[in-house]
Amino acid sequence: MSYADFHRRSLEDRDAFWTEQAKLIDWQQPFTRVCNHDNPPFTRWFEGGKTNLCHNAVDRHLKDRAQQNALIFVSTETDQERVYSYAELHAEVQRMAAVLKAQGVKRGDRVLIYMPMIPEATFAMLACARIGAIHSVVFGGFASHSLASRIDDAAPVAIVSADAGSRGGKVVAYKPLLDEAISLAANKPASVVLVNRGLAPMSLVPGRDHDYAALRAQQLDTVVPCEWMDATDISYTIYTSGTTGKPKGVQRDVGGYAVALASSVKQIFMGQPGETFFCTSDIGWVVGHSYIVYGPLIGGMATILYEGLPIRPDGGIWWKLVEKYKVSVMFSAPTAVRVLKKQDPAYLKQYDLSSLKALFLAGEPLDEPTARWIADGLGVPIIDNYWQTESGWPILTIANGVEKKASKFGSPGVPMAGYSVKLLHENTGEELTEPNQKGVVVIEGPTPPGFMQTVWRDDARFVNTYWKSIPGRLVYSTFDWGIRDEDGYYYILGRTDDVINVAGHRLGTREIEESISSHPNVAEVAVVGVADALKGQVAMAFAVAKDASGLVDEAARLKLEGEIMKLVDAQLGAVARPARVRFVSLLPKTRSGKLLRRAIQAVCEGRDPGDLTTMDDPGALQQIRDLVA
Ligand code: AMP
Repeated sequence: MSYADFHRRSLEDRDAFWTEQAKLIDWQQPFTRVCNHDNPPFTRWFEGGKTNLCHNAVDRHLKDRAQQNALIFVSTETDQERVYSYAELHAEVQRMAAVLKAQGVKRGDRVLIYMPMIPEATFAMLACARIGAIHSVVFGGFASHSLASRIDDAAPVAIVSADAGSRGGKVVAYKPLLDEAISLAANKPASVVLVNRGLAPMSLVPGRDHDYAALRAQQLDTVVPCEWMDATDISYTIYTSGTTGKPKGVQRDVGGYAVALASSVKQIFMGQPGETFFCTSDIGWVVGHSYIVYGPLIGGMATILYEGLPIRPDGGIWWKLVEKYKVSVMFSAPTAVRVLKKQDPAYLKQYDLSSLKALFLAGEPLDEPTARWIADGLGVPIIDNYWQTESGWPILTIANGVEKKASKFGSPGVPMAGYSVKLLHENTGEELTEPNQKGVVVIEGPTPPGFMQTVWRDDARFVNTYWKSIPGRLVYSTFDWGIRDEDGYYYILGRTDDVINVAGHRLGTREIEESISSHPNVAEVAVVGVADALKGQVAMAFAVAKDASGLVDEAARLKLEGEIMKLVDAQLGAVARPARVRFVSLLPKTRSGKLLRRAIQAVCEGRDPGDLTTMDDPGALQQIRDLVA
């Protein structure tokens, strides 16, 4: 079948198409309705059906591949390497599930997972899926304030965490950040289960904190059956940044997600049972949920869980793993490739990479020099894919598993199955049908299986934020600008909102501004994303001090800058730390008081800031121009 026909069927003959894809997973009870879109923009998939993500990822493979590799854990931080077969994974997941149940976790309860990239993190996710608890994984790079706001929103019964993570050989203690977050949060969890890696000292709060090793030892042989879930039940929430300081809990279902992952592993990633998938993301991001944990395992593949940097012990480590574990599908981010590009290219030739079918890259725009460098080095197709936390799997890419098609540099590709993608005029809502017109990338409902159901406990926010941003149209906005060429290939041109993308990590500038503003000597601040050769974008902050009398020289300014950076590190985590905090006496605003972030960004990038007729005081922009000159 041609890809065009495949995609057309997914929209025009929706029920038959997805019924076929749904055969890729096991159902305990068949569904009675494929797609319910009676109450737009909400979409419900596979109503009446009962299934379980953990059953599909683990149990169902025991028959044919119990001794096959399932989870390959490699840490170049702690020099550990451990391979779990499907049978061993099954045993570990049951132990974790039994531990959580003994801590009082029931179906529908939330479990917050704040973990480094260790096997127990995967066990915890799968254990939640197994017993029908809703997991909410918070990226280990986030600090106490970010964590506290997520604890408050999720109201978890239990938290699973560890003593520490490690990055570049430096131990990052998690427990003190977790303790601080729990003390800040209003919703306090009854139980905290901690994996002690022996990296950092941990003091346990009596009655609340438990050592996982001790709890696990009591459950070595406990059998915990899979809870059969409605396809439309909630599997997990994952927080993502938007234009307000309050993170949104993206909520996902069970059945639709399982089908979307099974289908995408086959049609997009060309993964086959028995092969090895190596996704270099983190379980704290959506890419990690879908393609470190659930996707490869649902597809009967082995998955590599890698803790460490791509250049430690040297720039060949990833390729060494590709050779050793015969990786067939690799998934990373452009930033990682830009880091590798600075290393000796000989590393790419040192290992046997013949098992590799393709390298997939996502999370941020893929620039042509980076794509060419890695394509030449690896000699396999480099496949860009565009998606969001909200979608859970690629929106735009090339589905070589359906029909081999050429990629175009600079374009992630074409819409995937079930995605009706349109470009709309941002003000009029009119559809742009001519090639190469710039518009907002939107998705028409019903959204495909695996797409977010709603914002956790906030349907109104889901509808108002995502579906009402284009006048007169009920369409999902990606908040990305895009164009489409004459062949139907899309090009993503950047965000329409105040979200920035640092090394593939999505950050809301408002969150960073709120954190900086909490410094006692900051009156006001503007944070913008500025183009960066390595990270894609970096955050740049311009602050007005409450009392500027002390900022007499560069040393004084650097001191305050250092304090502010420390504060952001402690509250949000180092990922959100701005590259610089510069001080000005006033910020560029419109006469109505709206910050002109876009003008600041243009000036920082050496571009024309455009129409400034609404600006209150041109001197404000001049100060920034002088600083960045
Ligand atoms: P996140 O929700 O963290 O995955 O971030 C999603 C955002 O990252 C998108 O809305 C885009 O702005 C950007 N993005 C993700 N993948 C790509 C890509 N392949 N090309 C360009 N931008 C991308």
